[in-house]
Amino acid sequence: MKILVINCGSSSLKYQLLDMDTHNPLAKGLVERIGMPGAVLTHRTAAIGKKVIEADIPDHKVGISLVLEALVHPEYGVITGLEEISAVGHRVVHGGERFSKSVIVNEEVLEGLRECIELAPLHSPPNIAGIEACQKLMPKVPQVVVFDTAFHQTMPPYAYLYGLPYELYEKYKIRKYGFHGTSHKYVSQRAAKLLRKPLTELKLISCHLGNGSSITAIKGGKSIETSMGFTPLEGLMMGTRSGDLDPAIVAFIMEKEKLSSEEINDFLNKKCGVLGVSGVSSDFRDIEDAAAEGNYRAQLALQIFAHDVKKYIGAYAAVLNGVDAVIFTAGLGENSGSMRADICNNLDIFGILLDPEKNKIRGEEVDISAADATCRVLVIPTNEELMIALDTEALVK
Ligand code: AMP
Repeated sequence: MKILVINCGSSSLKYQLLDMDTHNPLAKGLVERIGMPGAVLTHRTAAIGKKVIEADIPDHKVGISLVLEALVHPEYGVITGLEEISAVGHRVVHGGERFSKSVIVNEEVLEGLRECIELAPLHSPPNIAGIEACQKLMPKVPQVVVFDTAFHQTMPPYAYLYGLPYELYEKYKIRKYGFHGTSHKYVSQRAAKLLRKPLTELKLISCHLGNGSSITAIKGGKSIETSMGFTPLEGLMMGTRSGDLDPAIVAFIMEKEKLSSEEINDFLNKKCGVLGVSGVSSDFRDIEDAAAEGNYRAQLALQIFAHDVKKYIGAYAAVLNGVDAVIFTAGLGENSGSMRADICNNLDIFGILLDPEKNKIRGEEVDISAADATCRVLVIPTNEELMIALDTEALVK
């Protein structure tokens, strides 16, 4: 079975065609600058490497039709006809409270997705546009939606409600939703395999540390608490997002800097985090380089980040009443041994001890804990596309 995974952003679109026998991608790529001058499709396969196609791409439908053309192209395609694609799995950022698992798309599901627009006004419309485009271009192929929020729908109300009047939850659905669910679910399943224990018996803390970062407490395979909230702005300080703040700071900055609600939202999402603290970059590689050269603010950004992650690990160990393994994943978690070491330093209270040699690895599935550690520390490269394809396969089979 071959499954196409699509991830539509506002002006971009990522895709992978996966062979479900091997779980490997046959082709993958990216459409950028949709609706803008200079739109381009970068298509990659093992046989040809990279093929760059420049075209006028006014909307997602044209973008997806170009992707389909590339997939069946006699020179750089990987299939002979679109009928080889058994299903399409779409990454959807927000499923609200309505969607607690992946579903096959029908009119009712589309209506539910439209109701979620208000919760994710930037992300939901391109997600829906991608689904509608695929329905038109491949009317006979089942479409499945996989939500970033769905994995966290198992959180109990005392974990997802804020200290706000309950009426605001009833009126506007203001609550913690959590994100990166596909990644947390994937790495928790891999952790169970690596530890050779049933997932239902494990207490895990999954640290997805990338440009966007979140931490999840997973008990018996279910998310019971997570660091991102109503939006992906809450929780850890991130590349450009502030993470947790005293809410009074928001009104204070708005007044001092004369910012509108739209401007403060933009500011907290795009100009804060390690970028704002360091003044160097939002990319941890640049910050690590600057810190090594003695840049104080870069050093501070790394220290704040490690301290933030450590606080969440402590909090979630309490929420779980123990922890069998801490998982590091995503760009920073998979690659930065120094960040993993800073986070795990002085966490022996939880039985967390790293093996410095094993911690040198990058991007591999490895147990990096010391032999005498009672809590395992695992590096597990995330694979959201494969998780989406697996959910899609399970639904259409
Ligand atoms: P992601 O959002 O998962 O793609 O992660 C992207 C982020 O991971 C980048 O912005 C970098 O900050 C970080 N990253 C990737 N590779 C490394 C590395 N070798 N060392 C430190 N940070 C890295």
